[in-house]
Amino acid sequence: MFGKNKIYSQKDFKYHNVLFVKDIFHTIQGEGVFSGWPSTFIRLAHCTLKCNFCDTDFETDVRHLSINETLEKIEKITPDHTRLIVITGGEPFLQPLCSRLCRELLNLHYTVQIETSGSVWLDDLPVTNTNFHIVCSPKTGKLHPKLEQWIKAYKYIISSDNHSENDGLPIINPQTNKFIKLARPISKGIPIYISPMDEYDKDKNKENLNTIKNISLKYGYRISLQVHKYLGVE
Ligand code: SF4
Repeated sequence: MFGKNKIYSQKDFKYHNVLFVKDIFHTIQGEGVFSGWPSTFIRLAHCTLKCNFCDTDFETDVRHLSINETLEKIEKITPDHTRLIVITGGEPFLQPLCSRLCRELLNLHYTVQIETSGSVWLDDLPVTNTNFHIVCSPKTGKLHPKLEQWIKAYKYIISSDNHSENDGLPIINPQTNKFIKLARPISKGIPIYISPMDEYDKDKNKENLNTIKNISLKYGYRISLQVHKYLGVE
């Protein structure tokens, strides 16, 4: 969290036949196209990056679960009315078993949304399945080239002092604090969602909210208010 986590790469998980899971819980999806939908979240452990504003704990109390154990837990806590599974992290694409998890969930007739920073890629993801949705929240200047064509939506976190005058999107690398244009969509027409950065400061948060309102009106991006925080759920 807050840039203090250890960085991992895919080779750290290459020989494991279990998923490294931080948590599995039933909640409300707070962001993006499925905002407001009851959903079951699988938070996979560890990340390829360490962003200074990251307020997600993806490192403590990590459990090692087989695919079957993961599916059993999901089925146990997911009511019949909930058909959306959100796989997040950390960085879900770190773990090769994530592809198999996605396919098994699609076979169980769930819609699967996966959230990635776009720094890594898995070749055997079920990308052509219409119930499989990749959402990318870039935190680096470039994305993995194999990923870009499959992204269904982009997410950016905006603060009043971190947005471009040209397109309203972030211009500071959250690993180094240096100026860099975070990766932008490669083609027009892909939805872009913007959220205000939570700086744990009432006045700054108000300023960030005002900033995304103005950016949305100017560039046409969709505002995503992280509904789960208002509802007091995870
Ligand atoms: S990529 Fe996402 S999960 Fe990883 S450190 Fe950055 S904000 Fe946190």
